[in-house]
Amino acid sequence: MSHDYQNALWRGFPKTLPEFEARFGTEEACRAHLAQWRWNGEPHCKRCASPNVWCERSGTLYECAECGHQTSLTSGTLFHGTRKPLKLWFQAIWEVAVHRTGISAADLQRILGLGAYETAWTWLHRIRRAMVSENREKLKGCVQIDEAFVGGKGSEKEMVLVLSEEYGRVRLIHAPGNHEACISHVVKEEIAADASIKSDGHAAYNITTLDKREHEAKVQNKEELREGDHLQQCHWSVARLKRWLLGTHNGAVRPKHLQSYLDEDAFRYNRRNTKGPGRLVARCIENMLAHTPTTMRQLIHNTGECRLFSGISY
Ligand SMILES: [Zn+2]
Repeated sequence: MSHDYQNALWRGFPKTLPEFEARFGTEEACRAHLAQWRWNGEPHCKRCASPNVWCERSGTLYECAECGHQTSLTSGTLFHGTRKPLKLWFQAIWEVAVHRTGISAADLQRILGLGAYETAWTWLHRIRRAMVSENREKLKGCVQIDEAFVGGKGSEKEMVLVLSEEYGRVRLIHAPGNHEACISHVVKEEIAADASIKSDGHAAYNITTLDKREHEAKVQNKEELREGDHLQQCHWSVARLKRWLLGTHNGAVRPKHLQSYLDEDAFRYNRRNTKGPGRLVARCIENMLAHTPTTMRQLIHNTGECRLFSGISY
């Protein structure tokens, strides 16, 4: 997709709720928006690339006049397989993306009038997936790293690695531990090669795991913390995350779903200065199209510690 075309779509996206409701009040309008993002507004055949396609009555299914192949507007995206109106999906994305403290599945079900709690829960998780952009940029400059423990009771707590640019973006990663293999992997994936690191001096942060990045390690006692916290951004992030998990979700987050909650919290924090809620919604809708589908079965039975570590053995 050309950059200019993308910019025009961004500029034209509704900025407020009244604008949003006026613009996406019909299925046709929602479909048109998705078609613009997906195909520059010009649907074409997935098999032979012919632009000579005609739309079925459903409005989301296109049939190729050359080869007969059918292409769906939503197949292969996070909207895949939905039988509900796109209009309702757009409303759901608005609700989830714009609220500063997020929303629970029960509230989403109530607001949208969805029959089943499971539907609201599945939608919420799909929308959270859409809060992570593919090919996102690595953290730059000075990056603080720390560990935190959230959820569960006592030994059941889960480890979260907190990575934060100083006065910049944050990444929250559900990690199987803070041993060297794990730190090394996260640093490689999430932090630019020329960034510098600040840590609490844990032995796993070393020249090997940080791959020779400049490193300032500092063990802080209570006295020093009062004078100025070496890892302040990380500590603020952890406090915010814990408040949110307890407040909006009553702390009831299963370990296997923790990463998606971390993604949501980071999404909101990293866009704290974004002007107008419409931008957050536009980004989520764009990502809904960019990601591969997730079924309820996949969501519920996802047993991996975290998508970042899938397929990696320690
Ligand atoms: Zn074709």
